[in-house]
Amino acid sequence: MSERQLPDNITNLLARVSSAVEKSQRNPQDVNILAVSKTRPAGDIREAAALGLTDFGENYLQEALDKMAELQDLELCWHFIGPIQSNKTRPIAEHFDWVHSVDRLKIARRLSEQRPPEKPPLQICLQVNISEEESKSGVTLAELPALAQAVSALPGLTLRGLMAIPAATADTEQQHRAFAALRKALEALDMPHLDTLSMGMSGDLEAAIAEGSTLVRVGTDIFGPRG
Ligand SMILES: *Cc1c(COP(=O)(O)O)cnc(C)c1O
Repeated sequence: MSERQLPDNITNLLARVSSAVEKSQRNPQDVNILAVSKTRPAGDIREAAALGLTDFGENYLQEALDKMAELQDLELCWHFIGPIQSNKTRPIAEHFDWVHSVDRLKIARRLSEQRPPEKPPLQICLQVNISEEESKSGVTLAELPALAQAVSALPGLTLRGLMAIPAATADTEQQHRAFAALRKALEALDMPHLDTLSMGMSGDLEAAIAEGSTLVRVGTDIFGPRG
């Protein structure tokens, strides 16, 4: 990246996030940033880490493992946020700290069995399909309560909350509706220890924060447009 671009992007993002936090009268400590580093070289992550970012999200397993190896000297928190094939769960269980894209019990069971016992539990968000016609990923609202109960009983995992990727839209009312649906789904679970709503990206993080996001996943507005 050009020399000033990353620091400027991060400064602008932090200003956007704190202004959204202030508008919604929330506690700044309750809204965190996950830097989505898919397709970016390890050098960009190193630079972002030097500027204070600690949490990085990756969608593609092999690419992520290569970057982790290159960045071993850094203390980073790695989040898997992409679709999960069941034959790829072992390296995810072994190398990541968080997984946001669990949407069926089979995947959760495999992650549970494959999480190395010497490591802390893998932190889990269930991906929910809140705009049902748009996407094939995510558990339906109807199936969510049973999945949450089952996952929360599995050893080696800590269920933390919910994640969604609503259909991209510039219509802010529609953004709010989708994020409110995820917040209500979390409330309806009535599992008070769940503290995470992973929602909001570069284009809609204001609406997400207003509706209760605790973790915005931002790629483009940190690292620039993807090639
Ligand atoms: C790519 C991606 C993001 C980041 O999107 P931007 O629009 O670049 O901020 C967030 N979440 C998921 C699941 C993604 O795949």
